[in-house]
Amino acid sequence: MPIKILLIEDNLGDSRLLEELLNTAYPRKYQINSACTLSDGLNCLGAEEFNVVMTDLTLPDSNGIQAVLKIQEHTQSIPIIVLSGLDNNELALQIVKLGAQDFLIKGQGDGYLIGRAIDYAIERKLHEQKLNYLASYDSLTGLANRTLFWDRLGRALIRAKRNKTLVALLVIDLDRFKTINDTLGHNVGDELLVQVAHRFEHSVRDGDTIARLGGDEFAIIIEDVVVHTDVEKVADKILNIMKSPFGLTTQEVYASSSIGVSLYPTDELKAEELLKYADAAMYCAKKSGQNSYRFYAADINQNLLTELDLEAKLRRAVIKQDFMLYYQPKFNIVTQELIGAEALMRWNHAKDGMISPVVFIPLAEKLGLIDVITDWVIKEACKQNRLWQLEGYQPIRVAINVSPKQFNQKGIAKRILDQIVASNLSPEYVELEITEGALMKDAIKSNEVLNELKNKGIQISIDDFGTGYSSLSYLQKLDLDILKIDQSFVKDILDDADDAEIVSAIIAMAKSLKLDVIAEGVETQAQKNCLVAKGCINAQGYLFGKPVPAEEFPQFFVKKHRCQDKEFVVQF
Ligand code: C2E
Ligand code: CA
Ligand code: CA
Repeated sequence: MPIKILLIEDNLGDSRLLEELLNTAYPRKYQINSACTLSDGLNCLGAEEFNVVMTDLTLPDSNGIQAVLKIQEHTQSIPIIVLSGLDNNELALQIVKLGAQDFLIKGQGDGYLIGRAIDYAIERKLHEQKLNYLASYDSLTGLANRTLFWDRLGRALIRAKRNKTLVALLVIDLDRFKTINDTLGHNVGDELLVQVAHRFEHSVRDGDTIARLGGDEFAIIIEDVVVHTDVEKVADKILNIMKSPFGLTTQEVYASSSIGVSLYPTDELKAEELLKYADAAMYCAKKSGQNSYRFYAADINQNLLTELDLEAKLRRAVIKQDFMLYYQPKFNIVTQELIGAEALMRWNHAKDGMISPVVFIPLAEKLGLIDVITDWVIKEACKQNRLWQLEGYQPIRVAINVSPKQFNQKGIAKRILDQIVASNLSPEYVELEITEGALMKDAIKSNEVLNELKNKGIQISIDDFGTGYSSLSYLQKLDLDILKIDQSFVKDILDDADDAEIVSAIIAMAKSLKLDVIAEGVETQAQKNCLVAKGCINAQGYLFGKPVPAEEFPQFFVKKHRCQDKEFVVQF
């Protein structure tokens, strides 16, 4: 295929000369189409594809750099070579700075040289486009990247201001993507992101921009919004298209997303603000149950403020150790025997009162404070458990929650063991609760850590079991003791056949893996009976005992071991 050149040149003699030079040097390599005016040239560019355009600067309908600017306005993707009768270095430099690929002086150079200049110009342009692409698009999904996103958002706002229309910004974050990534690996995570991006592309109009802002966060810019409901429709569509499973190479996974929406000019006038607001709305959607969307509202900002406020307070609390532990009993519900206690953290704030771990543990993880906090929890829980033993109560195991963020850290086993040793409690009275995700990330490494802990007699349970993505084969590889059935399944065990089924499956799985199983969040007799019928004999929940401060816990020890005389009735 010949290289197609569009030559814009009003001097026919010059055109012919160029054609001859090229044809002599490289017969049939180039095919030249000529145009005598700039507007003719632009028409040709619109009608046909060319590999390169060569243009004179003095044309009947254009003078100087005008020609270059007009061509670029018409198309960004074609290499431009300027032909000039003037040997003017300054002009040449200006032209190249504008983005033209070369500046040739008429009458200089033979066909070989010109041909080479043309080939180089095409190569340079290709390279430039590749760089541009890399600078503007996300290499994984092919969506716009952050840089291009800001550029497009800026332009969209200018257009909206001019046309008095609305722009909606949607920020979309995948729910529980981290769990998928951690349990199934980055390759699977990446594959999912690509498919998600694909589905997003199908749910918006051609002109709308979809960008990947990073990780599992996406943004969509929707222009020409007329009413609120236009945006609601898009958000609904996105939630909907996520519903069917994603067929990945190794397995099918389900994913949902949380969406935050901000509107220009309703909410704020600057692009940065718009993103911040959409982000805040997205967090709100996530908190209020995932798989939903939220429009930005002024009160969300207030919540953001309190979060910042909370951050400062938490840092102070860690220094001052303003925490305490509550203990919740675990029972064998058939023999009614106390089998252990789970240590649950509380933050007792002077002004705000008791702050839930659901609020501050994720924040502590984010701020890198979780290690210090866990050290404290282990030390405190072990100290308390030893105290109970010294007071003559029956020995029980105390369970401590280890954040998944920590479990994959180097030296974690030693760090945990150091705290236990320092407390003088025998490690066989310690149990660690770890969520699936943390263990599945790297089974071999997890096993090394687990073995180190288990060699000392520490028991390991998988917390919130059933909510992650563990496969049986993975579980088999891990040296574990207990599966803890997540409370969400227990909650609906009576009215949701699926949940009842899952509980049965977990119990069967535990049995085949020779693991103990315990149900958490048991609140009613009916739930308890159902669990026993399915073969689960260990349980924890409000029905048997709420988490209480250490001094109230002895009520749960059996009477003969009890120091105090107070009579408590635990319901079975
Ligand atoms: P988790 O490990 O799943 O702990 C069980 C949570 O369920 C506790 O909430 C407990 O109070 C609650 N619960 C127990 N029985 C029932 C029941 O019958 N009904 C209902 N509705 N809830 C019940 P809590 O204490 O608010 O802790 C929440 C989460 O915070 C824990 O979930 C755990 O993930 C985290 N957490 C608590 N303490 C620590 C800690 O010391 N370290 C770390 N890393 N995380 C902690
Ligand atoms: Ca737990
Ligand atoms: Ca749990």
